[in-house]
Amino acid sequence: MPEGTLTQMPDRPDSAPSSGPLIDTFGRVASDLRISVTDRCNFRCTYCMPAEGLAWLPKNEILTFEELTRLLRVFVGLGVESIKVTGGEPTVRADLPTLVGMFRDVGPELDISLTTNGVLLESLAGPLARAGVDRATVSCDSLLQHRFAEMTRRDALEKVLRGLRAAEEAGLTPIKINCVVIGGTNDDEVVDFARWARETSYEVRFIEYMPLDAQHAWERRKVVAASTVLERIDAAFPLIAHGGNVEPATTYGFADGSPGRIGVIPSVTEPFCDSCNRMRLTAEGQFRNCLFALEETDLRGPMRAGATDGELVDLVRDAMWNKWSGHRIDHADFVQPARSMSMIGG
Ligand code: SAM
Ligand code: SF4
Repeated sequence: MPEGTLTQMPDRPDSAPSSGPLIDTFGRVASDLRISVTDRCNFRCTYCMPAEGLAWLPKNEILTFEELTRLLRVFVGLGVESIKVTGGEPTVRADLPTLVGMFRDVGPELDISLTTNGVLLESLAGPLARAGVDRATVSCDSLLQHRFAEMTRRDALEKVLRGLRAAEEAGLTPIKINCVVIGGTNDDEVVDFARWARETSYEVRFIEYMPLDAQHAWERRKVVAASTVLERIDAAFPLIAHGGNVEPATTYGFADGSPGRIGVIPSVTEPFCDSCNRMRLTAEGQFRNCLFALEETDLRGPMRAGATDGELVDLVRDAMWNKWSGHRIDHADFVQPARSMSMIGG
């Protein structure tokens, strides 16, 4: 178990409760679902996948819009309150606004956000907002054109910045930026990103580099601790803690009242497994109770074989019940999942 305070529920039954919230044996309630709508991507971020890409899933293995929507209805029935549409790169899935519209019909109150590399947002932000996306999180690891091109293997910074402006105009706000910090690559830019947050009012979230790359090239020495990022920014622009975090990101405002926010996601140095409320559905219908899970539960097979909603509910409840206490990235016995971030759905 990671350095946390989790303890298993006393007198817990052997099998998952058949009603009530979606819980695990540690009493954590799962209410946030990340839905991967494709494993494909139009970028090749060095920390995620190799230059030649990956062997994409054949089309018939990807869940259809109807299958995705049916599963979402099952999850909403189980208490899911927020979803993130992700991938791969979700915007390369054809007709994504139509799918979002179907999701919106399932959950008029659902919090629907999109995690994207932003390169197609210039044309898609408006249609996605109209279809029902509430907010966008856009990944951006460098504000320098040449470095952005090196890290994503695409010379697309300007296009992403235009996509961000389109997202703002479409009302996909508050906009969050995901920035993976890699020692010796882009860690010299954290103060520049903070300055950018102040200028744009974005929330820039610095993510610790995780062992989820397809190439298995992750090195612990390249992880820049969130605490280091915060110290550097605080020295330039003093920060104040922002209370009421409901996400893994710990967020800060600027002490001088400037707009914009800073967030850190310290998955490696300070895992937040104790309060995790997330689960994931991969593009081909595998349910994962943890980003780092070594096992998945197939929902597509049973669904295509005629399973009822009740049977799908039981599969999800059992899978959630068996969630471990947490990952052990910073321990010698850590085992990297077979599938990488873009295949799981980040
Ligand atoms: N393609 C979209 C994007 O890049 O925003 C969505 C999918 S991507 C897998 C989701 C998030 O995972 C991105 O913010 C990306 O930077 C992050 N990510 C990918 N590989 C990572 C790694 N090895 N460590 C930390 N974050 C990673
Ligand atoms: Fe694509 Fe996102 Fe992975 Fe970059 S991080 S290669 S944009 S899936």
